[in-house]
Amino acid sequence: MARAVNKKRTVMPTQDPHVRARNFNEVALGFTEEDARTEAARCLQCKKRNCVAGCPVEVPIPEFIKEIQNRDYAGAFRTVMGKNLLPAICGRVCPQETQCEAVCTLGKVKDSEPVAIGRLERYIADWGREHAPPDHTACPMGNGVKVAVIGAGPAGLTCAGELARLGYEVTVFEAFHKLGGVLTYGIPEFRLPKAIVQQEVQNLTCVGVRFSLNQVMGKALDVNDLKEKGFKAIFVGVGAGLPVFMKIPGVELNGVLSANEFLTRVNLMKAYEFPRADTMVDIGKRVAVVGGGNVAMDSARTALRLGAEEVMVVYRRSEEEMPARREEYEHAVEEGIRFLFLTNPTKILGDAEGRARAIEVQSMTLGEPDKSGRRKPVVVPGSEKTIDVDLVIMAIGTQANPLFTKVTPGLKLNEWGYIEVNERMQSSLPYLFAGGDIVTGSATVISAMAAGRKAAAAMHEYLQSLKPK
Ligand SMILES: Cc1cc2nc3c(=O)[nH]c(=O)nc-3n(C[C@H](O)[C@H](O)[C@H](O)COP(=O)(O)OP(=O)(O)OC[C@H]3O[C@@H](n4cnc5c(N)ncnc54)[C@H](O)[C@@H]3O)c2cc1C
Repeated sequence: MARAVNKKRTVMPTQDPHVRARNFNEVALGFTEEDARTEAARCLQCKKRNCVAGCPVEVPIPEFIKEIQNRDYAGAFRTVMGKNLLPAICGRVCPQETQCEAVCTLGKVKDSEPVAIGRLERYIADWGREHAPPDHTACPMGNGVKVAVIGAGPAGLTCAGELARLGYEVTVFEAFHKLGGVLTYGIPEFRLPKAIVQQEVQNLTCVGVRFSLNQVMGKALDVNDLKEKGFKAIFVGVGAGLPVFMKIPGVELNGVLSANEFLTRVNLMKAYEFPRADTMVDIGKRVAVVGGGNVAMDSARTALRLGAEEVMVVYRRSEEEMPARREEYEHAVEEGIRFLFLTNPTKILGDAEGRARAIEVQSMTLGEPDKSGRRKPVVVPGSEKTIDVDLVIMAIGTQANPLFTKVTPGLKLNEWGYIEVNERMQSSLPYLFAGGDIVTGSATVISAMAAGRKAAAAMHEYLQSLKPK
C-alpha cells in the first residue's frame, strides 16, 4: 500500500437492539460528516476501477468518494445521480458486500476491510435530499413519442426515468396506490423509510414521467389498449410477487400468511399504526417464520416490532447455508429472534375455529450438495415435535406475477412463467421489453435497476429505427 490507511471501516451507528426491537424507526443511523470524511479517506483511488465494474449501474465510485474527500458534496451528489436516480435507497439496501465492496482493492489487503461504499453512497444521497432540492424545471422537451411502463418497482422506475431523460413521453401504470414496488410494500420501514422511497421516486416527476396509479394492467388495460392509445413501446417490470406456500396440511388455516401479504399489510397499509390505520394484523404471542432469506428476516423482525412475545425463524438448512444478508441476520439475532436451524414444518395444526395453533416440525441433517451447490437437507426419522404458535408466516420464495403476461398473446414465457428476453431485454413481441424480477426471478433492487436502464437504451434504439428514413 502506498500510504497508510485505517484497516477497519468506520462503524455505522445503530439504534440499541433492545429499543429498536419495539419500534419501526430506522435501525442504521447513518454517517456524520466526520464519519463520511474518515471513511472516504480510506479509498485508494485505484487506477483499475474494480468497484465501478462491480456496480450493476456503474456508479463512478472513486470520483464521488474523491469529491467527499474534497468536501464537494454537491459534486458528489451530482456524480452519483448521473448513474443512479435512487441512491438513498441503494445506499441502504444494496448487497454491497457481494458487489462493489467485494472487489474493493483495500479489502484484498491482509486484515483490511473494504471501503464502506454503500454507507458513503447513503451519506451523500441523504445530503442531497436535504441540500439539493430537485429541479422541476430540468424537464427535457418531450419528443412526442409515447412509451408505457408497467409496474413502478425499481426496474420500471429506472426505465421510465432514463426514457424521460431521452425526451420520451413516459407513463408508468402501477397496480397499487403507491409507487416503489417492493421498496414500498416489501422492505420494512426500519430498513428503508417510506418517506425516503417516496421522495426519491417523486424526483422522477422532475424528468417528466407521468404516473397512473391503481391500474392493474391486464385487467384495466391490455397491450392492444395501450397500442390504441398511441404507445409505441412497452416496458414490463411487474416483478415476481406471487407467493409460494409449502404443500403441507394446515396451510389453509387462519393465521397462516404469505410474507408478501404480511409485509404488505404492515408496510403499505400501515398495520403498525392500527387503529389509526384501517388494516391490522392479529399477531398473537408466538410467531413462526418459515424460510432463511431476507424476506424471512424482514418478516420476523416486523412481527417482533408488532408486539409478538416470541418470534422464531424455522429454516431447514444450517446457519451457513442461509441466503439472508449477514448483517440482517446479525441484526435479527441482536433483537432476540430465535433461529431453529435444520428444522422443517410438516403440518400446521388448528383449533375448532380453524385457526393455526401449532406447527409440527421435524429435524433435518445435511446430505450431499444439490443443484444449487448447497448441501441438501435430509429428514431425521422419528424427530417430529410440536411447537405452539399463533401465527405462521411463509417466506419460502415467490413466483412470476402472471396478471399481465397471461393476457398478452405471443409473449414468450419460460417454463416458470418468467418473460423471455434477448440480450437487449426485448421479448418475443418486438415492441415489448421487460426486466427485473419478472425476467430473472426474485433478485436485487440494483439488478432490477440495471435491467431497466439497459432496456431503456434498447427501446430508444428500437424507437429510432421506426422513424421514417
Ligand atoms: C421483503 C423483501 C425484502 C427484500 N430486500 C432486499 C434488499 O435488502 N436488497 C435488495 O437488493 N433486494 C431486496 N429484495 C428484492 C428486491 O426488492 C427485488 O428484486 C426488486 O424490487 C425487483 O424489482 P422489480 O422492479 O422487478 O419488481 P417489484 O419491486 O416487485 O415491482 C413490481 C411492480 O409492478 C407492479 N405490478 C405487478 N403487476 C402489475 C400489473 N398487472 N399492473 C400494474 N402493475 C403491476 C407491482 O405492484 C409493483 O409495484 C427484497 C424483496 C422482498 C420481497
